[in-house]
Amino acid sequence: MERNTNYQVIVIGSGPAGSTAALYLSRANIKVLVLEGMQPGGQLTITTEVENYPGFPEGIMGPTLMELMRKQAERFGAEFHSLETVESVKFFSHPFEVKTDAAVYEAPAVIVASGASAKQIGLPSEQALQGFGVSYCATCDGFFFKEKEIVVVGGGDSAMEEATFLTKFAKKVTVVHRREELRASKIMQDRARANPKIEFILDTTVDEVTGSKEGGVTSLKLRNLKTNATTEFAAQGLFVAIGHTPNTQPYVGQLELDQAGYICLPHPNSTVTNIQGVFACGDVVDHIYRQAITAAGTGCMAALDCERWLTHERITERWDLPLGEEERVER
Ligand code: NAP
Repeated sequence: MERNTNYQVIVIGSGPAGSTAALYLSRANIKVLVLEGMQPGGQLTITTEVENYPGFPEGIMGPTLMELMRKQAERFGAEFHSLETVESVKFFSHPFEVKTDAAVYEAPAVIVASGASAKQIGLPSEQALQGFGVSYCATCDGFFFKEKEIVVVGGGDSAMEEATFLTKFAKKVTVVHRREELRASKIMQDRARANPKIEFILDTTVDEVTGSKEGGVTSLKLRNLKTNATTEFAAQGLFVAIGHTPNTQPYVGQLELDQAGYICLPHPNSTVTNIQGVFACGDVVDHIYRQAITAAGTGCMAALDCERWLTHERITERWDLPLGEEERVER
């Protein structure tokens, strides 16, 4: 497979974190390649309207926002390779190696911004109505459900938090959980149970989402797992809150990951990972905030950290040509 040594920084991921990192790097005259992955633009491309990204008082469609971020980075010379997915990396020798399904890249610095994926129930109807009444983020989409009846699926802290948050807008929120016991911490459960707008349906799964792209969600088919009885449940929104999976498979054994698989950042106020020259930002390190604006913010931080590191190590001066064998460093 062809070895490509044309870039000073490889950015993995093209959501708000990766795109912002690419913008800052390319504007600093650094040759940057963004490997966009299988979902170019990241999670925002599967939402509809984004109303809480500053600078767009009328709101903006998620895919449009990501297209604009990409164009802004391209304006300064960043290159984007669509649908190219990272298969493996070698971070224990320098320059670093990033292997995709199409090529092998060598670069002195890498920024990992591969994001996290919200877990899905796995129903075809759920997928078909994503962004049209089916959502994975209450902070992002709750506002669109004023005075509506909403179902939240999940029994963990996220589900309790999302349900409680959604009561600011919704007429009624029903938490549907597959077991009799909730997984959530007591304090989060108590808060949700004390909320008069929240009801619980336990031992139950969602088998199907009914609705259309034009009219949104209209009802859900629920199945009681103890009796197998099914019911048609009227609801205009479905929020799935069953956890997130960080996209870190290629980094297992290469970067330090926490128990849930998120990349660890060992130094406070820095985006550097346990490997000097490899930085991480966005949802792949963040299981708390998960917002486009926070991802963009840490993308900016990673670019600044990366640029300073390249300058400090005097790498940008000599990376016009591929490094010779004598300059390769085994770690
Ligand atoms: P989680 O704790 O893993 O809970 C996921 C929930 O979704 C579980 O109740 C699980 O059911 C259910 N679930 C999983 N797959 C499902 C499926 N296919 N169909 C239906 N239900 C399914 O995830 P989380 O709630 O996102 O929390 C992740 C971590 O973040 C936790 O450590 C949590 O404490 C933390 N967190 C903290 C706060 C806070 O303190 N403010 C807020 C949010 C999250 P089972 O219980 O049956 O497995």
